[in-house]
Amino acid sequence: MTVRELLLEAARTFSGSDTPFLDAVILLAHSLDVPKEKILAMLPEEACDVPASFFEMADRRRRGESIAHIRGFREFYGRTFLVNDDVLSPRQDTEILVEAVLEAGDMCASMPNASRPLKVLDLCTGTGAVAISIAAERPAWHITASDISLKALEAAQQNAHRLLALPSAVEFVASDLFSGILGQFDIIVSNPPYVPRAQAEQLISDGWKDPLVALDGGIDGMDFVRAIIAQASEFLYKNGVVLLEMDPSQVSEAVALFKQAGFCEIRIWKDLAGRERVAGGRYG
Ligand code: GLN
Repeated sequence: MTVRELLLEAARTFSGSDTPFLDAVILLAHSLDVPKEKILAMLPEEACDVPASFFEMADRRRRGESIAHIRGFREFYGRTFLVNDDVLSPRQDTEILVEAVLEAGDMCASMPNASRPLKVLDLCTGTGAVAISIAAERPAWHITASDISLKALEAAQQNAHRLLALPSAVEFVASDLFSGILGQFDIIVSNPPYVPRAQAEQLISDGWKDPLVALDGGIDGMDFVRAIIAQASEFLYKNGVVLLEMDPSQVSEAVALFKQAGFCEIRIWKDLAGRERVAGGRYG
């Protein structure tokens, strides 16, 4: 059997994956500790001495576990974040949220009266992917990152220590949304849980290792988006900005909520697949 046949056979069983062949390539590369390009070059060769770990990992993928949770890490915005069962693995779609924060922050920072470092709050930080990426890209900004889950905060702090020259650039706070947050911010950003509850429970029973608490956004998935938009103004400086990731189907409701809550300059950002993924606005 060639390497190509081995991978095709594994890929055929990854029925829940959008990229089954690539998944098989990544798992073989991980089990052999080589770059995936090396596997592509090996496709016509005979598959001998395939490590047992490849078959074990293929089995986990078949049962619905993500590549990120199997390997224990995921690339996000050019950096490698450790991922475990206590945190949502960062999705590529969320990189657009980082872009939106950098763009909004650079605009604030270029205002003639910007005399102090910009302050950013990242709610529901999980792995810390959003907060840490922003801190790494804009070291002068003050970033606060919060999560209700102490285990998630532990994972995020570990990522900050690995990825930031100055890990204290991100202040981590245990908080249920705004309950433990003090002070005001120029930008409030969040990728909150936004999957409707029944769907989130189904994903967990399909084998997803992301914790339910990181996915479950209440009956229609909008609990956290609603709560953040309703409370954000208390924690924003004048002209402060809120940027939220959500499901494309939730964007029109979120835009209406932003307007009702007194936000202006409401904008929408699309993800890599061209779906509306991030909505935000300026307050006051
Ligand atoms: N984007 C995630 C998904 O793939 C959901 C993340 C979230 O709820 N914040 O379902």
